[in-house]
Amino acid sequence: MSRIDEVLLNLQRSSPAQGEFYQAAEEVLESLQILLDADPRYIEQGVVERMVEPERQILFRVAWTDDDGRIRVNKAYRVQFNSALGPYKGGLRFHPSVTAGVIKFLGFEQIFKNALTGLSIGGAKGGADFDPKGRSDGEVMRFCQSFMTELHRYIGPAVDVPAGDIGVGAREIGYLYGHYQRLTGRYEGALTGKGLNWGGSLGRKEATGYGCVYFAEHMLNELALGLQGTTCLVSGAGNVAIHTIEKLIQLGATPVSCSDSTGTLYHPAGIDLDALKKIKEVERKSLVAYLEAHSDAEFTPLADYPSDGHAVWRYSAEVAFPCATQNELTEADAQALLANGVRCVSEGANMPSTAEAVRCFLDAGIAYGPGKAANAGGVATSQLEMQQNAGLTQWSMPKVEDRLRDVMAGIYRLCRDTAQEFGSPGNLVLGANIAGFRRVADAMIDQGLR
Ligand code: NDP
Repeated sequence: MSRIDEVLLNLQRSSPAQGEFYQAAEEVLESLQILLDADPRYIEQGVVERMVEPERQILFRVAWTDDDGRIRVNKAYRVQFNSALGPYKGGLRFHPSVTAGVIKFLGFEQIFKNALTGLSIGGAKGGADFDPKGRSDGEVMRFCQSFMTELHRYIGPAVDVPAGDIGVGAREIGYLYGHYQRLTGRYEGALTGKGLNWGGSLGRKEATGYGCVYFAEHMLNELALGLQGTTCLVSGAGNVAIHTIEKLIQLGATPVSCSDSTGTLYHPAGIDLDALKKIKEVERKSLVAYLEAHSDAEFTPLADYPSDGHAVWRYSAEVAFPCATQNELTEADAQALLANGVRCVSEGANMPSTAEAVRCFLDAGIAYGPGKAANAGGVATSQLEMQQNAGLTQWSMPKVEDRLRDVMAGIYRLCRDTAQEFGSPGNLVLGANIAGFRRVADAMIDQGLR
């Protein structure tokens, strides 16, 4: 049995019922065999075994009162996975589906994503099984304050710098930061995604979506194609999806879909971005409300999805951007996309495609950009926010966008060249996994046993 198989078997035993974490670990480790064969140090020094085990996992209770005065309790997590490259960095997710396995998978992916940016940031992730949806601002504030009452012990600008993720947007970061400041008495960059007039960076909220579109452009250019004039499918209707749609429109493409937890919206004339932002960012409603202003659009409720996948991937387009959540694109969805002529998939979400769907894309030889590479623009810009905070300054939007473009171009080249170096040209999954792993692993070896 190979060392990788041993490690995976041991993970199944030691981390039972953590399916998403196991899926992420399997995908990364299976790409590494060729690297481990070429450089025995990674096996000799136990790097693979150390890489899959978080440096620290913090599990805590968050007690808060709802608007009726009832006491509520949620489970919360911060998994500080790897700090070989810099302070821990990674978002916080508030969603009822959050479990230890989900946070571990996200933290594990974050190690390699952060390494690919070339910046000095380690990998972490956190969150809680709290659902902000339908909660009043007062309830969300009390939850965030209780969450930070515990979390503040473990974070700080040189230690661990959380950001947003699903369910944690500008409002939640505001409440979390206000309470951090109150508890510590320090006004410092301990969180990113902050408001623009209290330490935030221009371009941070747009960065993941914009970066994911830049990544798609690089993949398409390699095929001597461009984005302009293409029809694009986007899933999700949150921060990443909205800014993916925004950048696609700016670049002359036509995004025709989006989706949320209630269903899928399809608008062949092109998504009306202002209407979408109003519904999701201001009114916080279901996407079905879009039909009130656009009778030529169609909405498929969740109950009418195909039994083997998701309505959003059953439409025809040249480029697809999964931007909602993990495992939202199944093997049947991938086959439908390929049958309808998709040429490129760029992942805004983390691990949105199942392992079988990824295999379909790779076998078909289309351009496929895995999330850890394609969506790294968000964390890269978070690191730019840290730089601005450390220098007590704020950069202009063009400066941030230029840096973001450079980072995405650098990630693309690194993944492409690494895939080529290891004999699999075009396989950006292999390129991203090997390049990310190698940077962290080399730092771990340099720093001695830890
Ligand atoms: P948001 O909370 O802003 O939006 C998430 C969107 O996905 C919402 O439209 C939500 O629906 C939908 N969604 C979430 N969970 C489910 C589910 N289980 N089933 C169906 N729909 C669902 O999150 P983000 O846009 O920030 O994050 C989206 C993805 O991008 C995640 O995978 C995240 O990890 C990843 N990502 C985010 C980064 C960032 O900078 N924000 C950085 C890198 C990756 P509804 O509107 O109904 O709630």
